[in-house]
Amino acid sequence: MTQDLARYHRQILLPGFGEEGQKKLLASSSLIVGCGALGTVIANMLARAGVGHLIIADRDFIEITNLQRQVLFDETDVRDAIPKAEAAKRKLATINSQVEVTAVVDDVNHANIEKLINMGRNGKVDVIVDGVDNFETRYVVNDAAVKHGIPYVYGGAVGTIGASYAILPHTPGGDSPWEKAGVATPCLRCIFEEAPPPGLNPTCDTAGVLGPVVSIVSNYQCIEAIKILTGNWSAIGRTMMNIDVWENTVRQFKVARAYDVGECVCCKRRSFEFLDGKFGSSTTTLCGRNAVQLTQKQLAGKLNFEEIAARLRPHGSVNVNKFMLRADIKDNGEPYELTLFADGRAIVKGTKEPTTARSIYSKYVGA
Ligand SMILES: [Zn+2]
Repeated sequence: MTQDLARYHRQILLPGFGEEGQKKLLASSSLIVGCGALGTVIANMLARAGVGHLIIADRDFIEITNLQRQVLFDETDVRDAIPKAEAAKRKLATINSQVEVTAVVDDVNHANIEKLINMGRNGKVDVIVDGVDNFETRYVVNDAAVKHGIPYVYGGAVGTIGASYAILPHTPGGDSPWEKAGVATPCLRCIFEEAPPPGLNPTCDTAGVLGPVVSIVSNYQCIEAIKILTGNWSAIGRTMMNIDVWENTVRQFKVARAYDVGECVCCKRRSFEFLDGKFGSSTTTLCGRNAVQLTQKQLAGKLNFEEIAARLRPHGSVNVNKFMLRADIKDNGEPYELTLFADGRAIVKGTKEPTTARSIYSKYVGA
């Protein structure tokens, strides 16, 4: 065994793996969408496993309340206000320097998901792993995965429950390796035709989230991603795993029929409504954050943080680094935290109202 492979000895011993499997992992690219609770565990495990190239996309910066479950981050990252994707990249470099990590500090949406997919070493990424906290983004990812015939491992956790499921999409020619192996699975929209309406579902804001349930779900996702990347198609689960760690239940939902009996807009009719931007929005209320994100792509790279900081300092404390500007502002006696990113996004914390957020932004940054 060459020195390069020695560190992977314990997994090379596994059935269906061997040196050949390890070499496949090292030659592969994974896109991790979101680097929060799920995404940090996924990035950590896939880097240790030797997935050669990880593209990590996340729009957020690290806060103290993240440390309860987001395993790649520490108090220094909170203090230095480092974006999650960048902090993950730095930490992973100390864990496995053989792995290339591309950090993308950006919102993942219909306008950029295909660009992210195309950053893969082999032309396109070999798998997409879900570390997202909302269904709108998941549907965008699902559309892109189905359109380009890329496996997509869904995962979600809130409160004490979680779910994981590997989507091996049906393709027009039916000649993908997983279809040849007879193991294609329904896509996310085959199973959930529409997103649960806001307010109906618990969020991490209303229900909280237990750290270990996130770990369980994301490790399930990693297992399926590793099977995909090593071509162990017949080993991949064809059910949706649901777990409630407080009720001590694990259920495997049989979802295979959802494709056969349904008329899925996405994977059967191949209409990619989310990817086409039909349902996209430029203002997003952030899950669990009492915050609103505003996106103005036309401002990408055009904001002069030093100039804005000078204007904001009379209103409160301002911190600037090359990734972002953060200011604490009192407006009509109400405290807000305003964060500007170099890519044209802004997060206004202290409100869930898009109109209030837009007003704060235009007051202190400009219309
Ligand atoms: Zn479908």
